[in-house]
Amino acid sequence: MTDQSFDLVVLGGGSGGYAAALRAAELGRTVAVVEQDLLGGTCLHRGCVPTKALLHTAEVADAVRRAGSVGISATLDGIDMAAAVAWREKLVDGKHRGLASLVRARGITVVDGRGTLTSADGAPAVEVAGDRFIGTDVVVATGAGSRTIPGVELGGRILDSEAALALDEVPKRAVILGGGVIGVEFASAWRSLGADVTIVEALDSLIANEDPSSRKALEKAYRQRGIGLELGSRVTGVEQSEHGVRIAVDRGGEEVGIDADVVLVAVGRGPVTDGLGLAEAGVETDRGFVVVDPSLRTTAPHVWAVGDIVAGPQLAHRGFRHGLFVAETIAGKNPSPLDDSLFPRVTYSTPEVASVGLTEPQAVETHGADRVVTREVSLAGNAKSEIVSAGADSRAGFAKVVALVDGPVIGVHLVGDRVGELITEGQLAVAWEARADDLAPLIHAHPTQSEALGEAFLALAGSPLHTL
Ligand code: NAD
Repeated sequence: MTDQSFDLVVLGGGSGGYAAALRAAELGRTVAVVEQDLLGGTCLHRGCVPTKALLHTAEVADAVRRAGSVGISATLDGIDMAAAVAWREKLVDGKHRGLASLVRARGITVVDGRGTLTSADGAPAVEVAGDRFIGTDVVVATGAGSRTIPGVELGGRILDSEAALALDEVPKRAVILGGGVIGVEFASAWRSLGADVTIVEALDSLIANEDPSSRKALEKAYRQRGIGLELGSRVTGVEQSEHGVRIAVDRGGEEVGIDADVVLVAVGRGPVTDGLGLAEAGVETDRGFVVVDPSLRTTAPHVWAVGDIVAGPQLAHRGFRHGLFVAETIAGKNPSPLDDSLFPRVTYSTPEVASVGLTEPQAVETHGADRVVTREVSLAGNAKSEIVSAGADSRAGFAKVVALVDGPVIGVHLVGDRVGELITEGQLAVAWEARADDLAPLIHAHPTQSEALGEAFLALAGSPLHTL
């Protein structure tokens, strides 16, 4: 057994962990990162990046189908999923190599192996195969993993998102269990690639955390795309055979059966905190999530937690922010406080859904109905939206702004092709507590999709240009 000491030891090299390591090294600290798999974690290897690549393949298929509407003769002769997977893997591999060399260039020690939390003479440490990596501080950043529901065991034709990504052919018939972000994104990709898709969601709507206007617009667009929606329905059992899967669904008291080739289970992801020695080290958890104070300190001295193991929205960019925040706090930099509602949210479906801040119902609940005002501008009149959505229904989109009467913008909600790229402006408005009068004079380039947001700000200031 050997002991090595560092200023900071990070357990987990995903978005949260590597961000903490990079910032701490930048601030002159000695840093070790313990990673059992690959630097970059779920987001880079099995989550955000490969799913967005799959969605891009799907978008290209749609573009080819609609090519005739913009004067290009093309036919979709087939979808070579093996080639799509190979392209994606090469892309991910390039990003991984870039990250690994950045980490090396910052002088960070990467330890391969599975670590558990321990201590050495009162200091926190991470143990890997008998060796101890002792830190003045330790950051736990072990992320989240797939969950399922009782009676539905993963394996064979019952897939989690990682297994779904690894498929080298498009399923003919897919049932997706859960209409949250993962369910909605896979439904979009598979439908565009030609599958029959049904989403079974226990709640009455898809992406239930989003603003009701966004939920409604997405559901309408999905129905128009021929995606089956079983809302307010629960899966009660799944039976698997060599040839397919039969899914039993309770549709408000009525039992129905749906046959499919595969089932994707997307009912949420749980924190990875078991078997890490957390309790023994004095780190309290609550339903699996690490208990932290507003500065992400755990209940054990000098042990911090970041990313998906901290209850709140599970987003890679929240992990990054947590990592930077903790490294800066340890270095005495006093970073600005964290606020979960200020992390932009993007669902990369067709159409995309993006938001930041409060939804209208949350605003009404927090501030009272008489203090909340909203403006919604359809993308139907937006020239650039119509151009980029050529041949599709550009009316599916809108920009909605939620504000306080004579006060700041507190929420921005967007639906439409590529609107994920526009949410940063919404974030600036909400985070800087900008008021309609501050925003209305800002010019949005013409023609861009961002003009819809500009128009919503103008309307909120009482001086719309293109709307009534
Ligand atoms: P989720 O929590 O977003 O959605 C799960 C859905 O499953 C919920 O709507 C829930 O009501 C439903 N559900 C649960 N049990 C059910 C049952 N028995 N029958 C029918 N429906 C049931 O979780 P997810 O979509 O699995 O995603 C996991 C996490 O990863 C989320 O926090 C998500 O935000 C994050 N993620 C984010 C992105 C992104 O930002 N683009 C992409 C993928 C995942």
